[in-house]
Amino acid sequence: MADLEKLRRFVESLSENNYLRLRRGFGIGLYLYNQLRDVAPPYLLENLQRFDRMSFEKKKVLLQELGSFLSSYHSLRERRKKLEQVKSKPLRDFLIPLDRLKFLDRAELRVLQGLGINTLLDLLLYFPLRYEDRRVLSNLRLVRPGEKVVLRLRVKDTRTLREGPYTAEVTCTDGDEEIRLRFRYRRSDFIHALYRRGREILVFGKVRAYRGERYMVHPDLLSEEECGRIVPVYYNRIRGEATRISSKTRQKRIRKAIERSVRRAAPYLPEYLPSQLLEKYSFPSLRETVTQLHIPEGVDPKELNAFKDVYHRRMIYEDLFLFQLALAVRKAGLKREKAPRIAVPSDFLRHFEENLPFSLTGAQRKVLKEILSDMERENPMNRLLQGDVGSGKTVVAAGAVFAAVRAGYQAAVMVPTEILARQHFEKLGEVLRNFGITVGLLTGSLTPAQKRSVYRHIREGTLQVVIGTHALIQDRVEFKQLGLVVIDEQHRFGVMQRKLLLEKGKGLYPHCLVMSATPIPRTLALSLYGDLDVSVLDEMPPGRREVRTSLLFESERDSLIEAIRREVSQGNRVYIVYPLIEESENLALKSAVEEFERWRRDLEGVRVLLLHGRMSDREKEEVMERFREEGDVLVSTTVIEVGIDVPTATLMIVESAHRFGLSQLHQLRGRVGRSDRPSRCYLVVPDHLRRDQEAMKRLRVLVKTSDGFEVAEMDMKLRGPGELLGVSQSGYFGFNVANLARSYDRGVLERAREDAVELLRKDPGLRNHPELRSVLLYRYGERMDLSGVA
Ligand code: ADP
Ligand code: MG
Repeated sequence: MADLEKLRRFVESLSENNYLRLRRGFGIGLYLYNQLRDVAPPYLLENLQRFDRMSFEKKKVLLQELGSFLSSYHSLRERRKKLEQVKSKPLRDFLIPLDRLKFLDRAELRVLQGLGINTLLDLLLYFPLRYEDRRVLSNLRLVRPGEKVVLRLRVKDTRTLREGPYTAEVTCTDGDEEIRLRFRYRRSDFIHALYRRGREILVFGKVRAYRGERYMVHPDLLSEEECGRIVPVYYNRIRGEATRISSKTRQKRIRKAIERSVRRAAPYLPEYLPSQLLEKYSFPSLRETVTQLHIPEGVDPKELNAFKDVYHRRMIYEDLFLFQLALAVRKAGLKREKAPRIAVPSDFLRHFEENLPFSLTGAQRKVLKEILSDMERENPMNRLLQGDVGSGKTVVAAGAVFAAVRAGYQAAVMVPTEILARQHFEKLGEVLRNFGITVGLLTGSLTPAQKRSVYRHIREGTLQVVIGTHALIQDRVEFKQLGLVVIDEQHRFGVMQRKLLLEKGKGLYPHCLVMSATPIPRTLALSLYGDLDVSVLDEMPPGRREVRTSLLFESERDSLIEAIRREVSQGNRVYIVYPLIEESENLALKSAVEEFERWRRDLEGVRVLLLHGRMSDREKEEVMERFREEGDVLVSTTVIEVGIDVPTATLMIVESAHRFGLSQLHQLRGRVGRSDRPSRCYLVVPDHLRRDQEAMKRLRVLVKTSDGFEVAEMDMKLRGPGELLGVSQSGYFGFNVANLARSYDRGVLERAREDAVELLRKDPGLRNHPELRSVLLYRYGERMDLSGVA
């Protein structure tokens, strides 16, 4: 190993006497490369290989970086050594609430709590969004416009401007060249006070140039400590009270509080990842990871910003591993529960099918058999039923419900919206009532008296099936003998809500069938719902035709009116959907409400109805009812996105289609083409989108394919599964760093799953890994049922 101190002196000497040695020297890059091969990070090594051919200016920059690496290399090693010597404290010491930490002041506490940080561990794992490289002081002569740099400047002159966008301008020099700092504040007196003539300042900002003049707009004024290092930038947006302080102040408070906490507490962090996994992937310890991600030393900021450094990689793995472990624990725990055995007579399927208005597809039959054989066992079924939009999941659920009721148990069907609950009450209810089954509806909009009556019938068992929204998981709902829970369009519900409903089984654990709204690729389904077995409906009911999909520019919209009239005259129904309007965003989006009036004028003689999210549930239901019964056109926000089934609908028009995700568009499109009538879908976009290659390419996916799995795959590549499932990743999955929108992270997911399963196989109760058990319970105990390790 090279003598790094000697090397550091050598690098320093290269810049002495105005870089004399660097200019004269020969093969310096090769020499440095050979010396540093084993220790330097890849980015430096790559540059060193090219060093001898570089321009003088570039060499100078690289030398500075090399210098800072060499001096930090020692501190990095020192840091690691020091961290390794400290005796760790148990994890529970890190789970104490923030307000009990003496080293945080009131103001800091308020900001941190506003960010949802509750404990010391939360705080230490609250990682920066990105990093700013302020290690090297730049020289104006070397800076190119567009670069973000730190400059040490002297103020030459400050003046107030009367015209133009800026109100004040400060002319500065770095000794050689000039730059202007420009400000837009309404009052400029404090600029004069702050930037007094002759004052030495450190600023950070992006250098811009206009007609040869260089300037910076609203640069950060830095203290000496804020320079010469990589500075972390934290997410700091808070709703409510704390927003009264500026984002800069919040940023400073967070940074200071975290830095102080890291210095005080991080050295005592216990390691909770199993050592064999750390070795397997050469991951650094938790202490070092936490320290380096908040106070980086000797790490390439470009790598940090790309999440490619070993510290980020550890955290990504950790997030995914813990998630997979939680799912695996839950799955194992469920296997030990006792469920009611649902006896299924041999002629059950035939009997069921005989009473349906159609015969089942092969796929429906196959999946229903899988479900029935699960329910015959004495352990609870936990199955995810996947199928493209319109593949006929509801009737499969009806089969399962029928079997449970036949065996003497009750069944509950939970859906995300009131509209859907009513629809199921009618359609699914009809199938069930044909078999003499009693079906009830339980939603938030029932009157108290109606609710009490439903509660009573559920408790006494006179209602065999109840269909409802999350009104079902309330404490007052008690079943006589719950045997099956069906959850439709599941991604809207957290694992927690599933759990609450399943706990209503009184000693026995009901079987559970989960149906997903969005088809997701099988491997991902296994990883995200690792606690569930997966069945796939891979066949559409017969006679379905593809929904012909086209892009349409707003300037071509006259043709829509014609198309609508044509459908309506044949007795078909039409949807026109607008993106949700967020008032705060003040986007120039056409609102469904305004456009509704226009459609009414344009479509004289046609019945046009309006549906939007601000209507009461009762109003919504009335509109849907009228649309179903009488038609013709429904102008709506995305409240109709999920699950609505009106078979006579044949035309779907999506306005501002570029505002929607692909899977969402596929869902919307799935509202038509639900019978043997030919159906169409128009994706309407503004004309300027013609020039937006990315957006056009994205939307063309829908024109090309009608396969929901394919659409989902594309959507996931573009936006990540969180968006795909309509949930925020940190909220739903509890991740700190992992982001499944990155393909790297998705790759890790599979590995993490295998590791988690393997570990549980060897140590089912995690008895040999107490800290791992603690962190797992801390993160997922509330949301998932982890009694297997508790
Ligand atoms: P999704 O899977 O999207 O929930 P649904 O269960 O709402 O789909 O079914 C879509 C439509 O297809 C419904 O109108 C349903 O009655 C009909 N359907 C389901 N299965 C069949 C079948 N085997 N043959 C004919 N029509 C069917
Ligand atoms: Mg459905």
